Amino acid sequence: MESEAERSPLGVFTCQLCALTAPYSYVGQKPPDTHSVILLEESYVMKDPFTSDKDRFLVLGSKCSLCSRLVCVGPECSLFYSKRFCLPCVQENMDAFPQEIRQDLEKRKAPSKRPASRPGSRT
Ligand SMILES: [Zn+2]
Ligand SMILES: [Zn+2]
Repeated sequence: MESEAERSPLGVFTCQLCALTAPYSYVGQKPPDTHSVILLEESYVMKDPFTSDKDRFLVLGSKCSLCSRLVCVGPECSLFYSKRFCLPCVQENMDAFPQEIRQDLEKRKAPSKRPASRPGSRT
């Protein structure tokens, strides 16, 4: 039972955009008990609570590379484009992202935000 202590959460991850909270058990790029898994970014990780499989883990989120805000990996909060960016930073620096990312974001956005203009068709 002593090993249980090692696995207790380090703390609680809180997304600063959507206020998602979850206990995390590891921060970094190489979660323990996983073989040859190296994450592309330093992430807050928890064991997958839905499986007893040791290798399974969930990435909760990580720091925005621009503003250092902690954000979850949810599509409304951040995106990963070689680094993690929170959506507010993406919006501010939209020009720096390629077309496909912008289009992807357009899709994610709630359609209620814009008035009835048709983004797909240009005149
Ligand atoms: Zn979030
Ligand atoms: Zn940011």
